[in-house]
Amino acid sequence: DLADIGVTGLATMGRNLARNLARHGYAVAVHNRTYGRTQQLVKEFGGEGTFVPSEDLAAFVASLKRPRRAIIMVKAGAGTDAVIDQLADLMEPGDMIVDGGNAHFDDTRRREAALRERGLHFVGTGISGGEEGALNGPSIMPGGSKESWEALGPILQDISAKVDGVPCCVHVGPDGAGHFVKMVHNGIEYSDMQLIAESYDLLRQALGATPAELASVFREWNRGELDSYLIEITAEVLDQVDAETGKPFVDVVVDQAEQKGTGRWTVQSALDLGVPVTGIAEATFARALSGHPEQRAAAASLQGPGLSGVGGRELVEDVRQALYASKIVAYAQGFDQMAAASREYGWDLDLGAMATIWRGGCIIRAKFLDRIRAAYDANPALPTLLADPTFAAALDAGQEAWRRVVTTAVQIGVPTPGFSSALAYYDGLRRDRLPAALIQGLRDYFGAHTYRRVDKEGSFHTDWSGDRTEHPA
Ligand code: NDP
Repeated sequence: DLADIGVTGLATMGRNLARNLARHGYAVAVHNRTYGRTQQLVKEFGGEGTFVPSEDLAAFVASLKRPRRAIIMVKAGAGTDAVIDQLADLMEPGDMIVDGGNAHFDDTRRREAALRERGLHFVGTGISGGEEGALNGPSIMPGGSKESWEALGPILQDISAKVDGVPCCVHVGPDGAGHFVKMVHNGIEYSDMQLIAESYDLLRQALGATPAELASVFREWNRGELDSYLIEITAEVLDQVDAETGKPFVDVVVDQAEQKGTGRWTVQSALDLGVPVTGIAEATFARALSGHPEQRAAAASLQGPGLSGVGGRELVEDVRQALYASKIVAYAQGFDQMAAASREYGWDLDLGAMATIWRGGCIIRAKFLDRIRAAYDANPALPTLLADPTFAAALDAGQEAWRRVVTTAVQIGVPTPGFSSALAYYDGLRRDRLPAALIQGLRDYFGAHTYRRVDKEGSFHTDWSGDRTEHPA
């Protein structure tokens, strides 16, 4: 019998995705470059459903029902290109190739265009939730044509996470839209983690609290508006004790954060689109700073403020509010980036739907996303999430605490680039007049770049090197 859908690439993610499909009653064709992995899957989990194993790609393609649906779950990059090329040669017009790896959206746009010329549907799909999500229900962000969504959507929604019975999977938009949205998801994940790390660091330094005490704080926070997967697992990690030394686990881990590149991609794209995603940028740079031990050793003798142990229990609640306010800013920036990309690439993204599909399955899953959904439901043309009445009220309620937190951090020399830059963004956006006017003046002075006036139309230039009179440009 022919299989309903296929998965090629059976490492952690692909294997679990194939099992998820099989458990939902689909007959799944399975293939991996090294056949051993395929055999292993069938041997270990064959009882979970119907697997149709193939040793080579031609047999794999031949084992699929038409139109064929094949999901690629191989290492992102050159490997993906190689597998796409081989699959495309074996497939026929109308068939669908799904790339579920972490591809860059530019690569997905390129691949989609090339395969469309050959009559094939290429579906760049973001999948979040790691190993566990792939098996039990990830958040799925498919791009590609409407026709491919019709043939694939029901299956992907079937195996995705559900929140209140709603699948965490919608058709994101054409070509690279799915991978773009997954990229921004990861960028926001960087930002969320940085803000959590700053909260922990500041409370530990200021109050002298132990990781175990802070685990209780995060557990308490998880019962309120911060309720989310990342806050929940922060408590777990902070509570962990190293078996070998008896020390807190977090104290035996090397303090250099690694990255696979999606945060960097998000920031690079934001620079191209002209969207200030300062929260994601600071989070990415903070990881980079941590990863330079030679510079850190060289700078270790530089002077700090000679102040410590400021603040009492009230700092805990202040930090909670600063964390929530900064999180609102980070998400506002990420959603701005998706809106800008939607305009730039003609994707027609439904921002409220993006909040919906991140409510479950993925790493940034949180109660909070319901509030973002509600904000876009109330006003689909919202210029910034900061202006939504619910978020505006939360920022209003938290901004004094937020300022005290940043002040305390500066006083005792604890770096909080996430909190500080989010506050600067908030203060920048709400300002009546910005010093950008002076920058325009300087640009006109040295480069005759011209400026616009607040009181009349048109562009102007002042003759700075001559009589300093103004002329229409
Ligand atoms: P890896 O990224 O570790 O990739 C290993 C798989 O790729 C193996 O099946 C390997 O085959 C195959 N492969 C590598 N190069 C080639 C090639 N040139 N030709 C054919 N096959 C090749 O696997 P993961 O399961 O961790 O991730 C798969 C994809 O999912 C990646 O793009 C990843 O970024 C993405 N992803 C991963 C998440 C995670 O939590 N791990 C979460 C979300 C997405 P072989 O067995 O023969 O070596």
